[in-house]
Amino acid sequence: MSTNTESLPTVVVQPGEADRILAGHPWIYKGSIQRTTRPPSDGDVVQVKDHRARFLGIGLFNSRSKINVRVLSWDRVEIDRGFFLNRIGAALALRKRLMPGATSFRLVNAESDLLSGLIVDKYEDVLVVQTPSLAMDQRKKLIVSVLEELLKPRAIIERNDMASRKFEGLEESHGTLAGTPPERLHAVLNGLRFDLPATGGHKTGLYLDQQSNYEAVARWAKDGAVLDCFSFLGGFSLHAARAGAKSVVGLDQSADACTAAGANAAANGLGDRTQFVNANVFDWLKAETFVPPSEKLVPKFDLVVLDPPSFTRNRDSVPDALRGYKEIHLRALRLLKPTGVLATFCCSHHVDARLFEDVILSAAFDARRMLRRVATYSQSPDHPVLPGVPETEYLKGFAYEMVR
Ligand code: SAH
Repeated sequence: MSTNTESLPTVVVQPGEADRILAGHPWIYKGSIQRTTRPPSDGDVVQVKDHRARFLGIGLFNSRSKINVRVLSWDRVEIDRGFFLNRIGAALALRKRLMPGATSFRLVNAESDLLSGLIVDKYEDVLVVQTPSLAMDQRKKLIVSVLEELLKPRAIIERNDMASRKFEGLEESHGTLAGTPPERLHAVLNGLRFDLPATGGHKTGLYLDQQSNYEAVARWAKDGAVLDCFSFLGGFSLHAARAGAKSVVGLDQSADACTAAGANAAANGLGDRTQFVNANVFDWLKAETFVPPSEKLVPKFDLVVLDPPSFTRNRDSVPDALRGYKEIHLRALRLLKPTGVLATFCCSHHVDARLFEDVILSAAFDARRMLRRVATYSQSPDHPVLPGVPETEYLKGFAYEMVR
């Protein structure tokens, strides 16, 4: 396209790094860089070449981050308004194709949408922006103007309160970037309304990555007694109740989450069948599975959902996390009726599907239960997976029917 990019500062990568980048992995670590032709400033656009001076891509530079370059394009393009209009427009078109009825979804999921360092969530007519990389943060105004052109939202707010920003040399910052936001955000997911606080809370407000799984799991709920562990704002609980569950118990250690979930249930006319208990799941399950030596445990639930937070922050904590996963599975299986279904999720990057299922099987073995896998789940399609960028795949889930 443009030849201007030829004069950009050049980052030359070490021999052996080119293939990964050409295959679509956008991160270039400090240690992968052989040299730069002239020192770029943090946030600058750079061109990336291999040690034989072959062009690899155009990216954004930050010396303060462990990731020195985030590649945005594998073609020679300017990183200007037109670029963002194309990329964000393509991201929007993908959501419209894959989730045609959805009105709240993740519009831009960083690497998944070839926009490393940018996240945009759509909560009905309000957009929530996160810019965890310095270079994207510097381009916030441009991004906001593109979002306004494409979606004409009522408001665009920024929620940059993630600790990871400090590794990029960024302060936390939140506030309104455009328009006038309502006091509380809300989202309609699969026809159910969820209210959430405008500040605080998890992620940008809701776990949008579970949107497609809420419906898929609810199919096991009809006429049953449901236990939703780590229920947060009631995503699985409300979908299960709407699908015809007789009763739903949600468990969360956050009192605010339980109150909000209860209000969401009531607002959707599902308050009579749902109950949210403010408890630590580990303690609650322990108490429920305790039986005096002479008695037998009577299982109560037809569907148990386990959707815990990531128990791992790094590789070192994986063994502890696995112990945690095993414990909740063991106890959940003991509470499940003979024909019941366990739907279970793991959002930890460091525990893959194989390892996760191994833990579940080992819990089943200890509980003397046999399982039949009846469904496999992944993150919702608005969190697309690029197989060439393994970090884009993190949420996995399974449903098992108890065979005996
Ligand atoms: N299933 C939810 C997301 C769960 S996020 C949804 O679809 O929206 C994890 C939730 O677990 C948070 O709300 C957090 O408050 C809660 N939590 C974390 N550790 C917990 C524990 N030990 N016991 C109970 N709740 C816990």
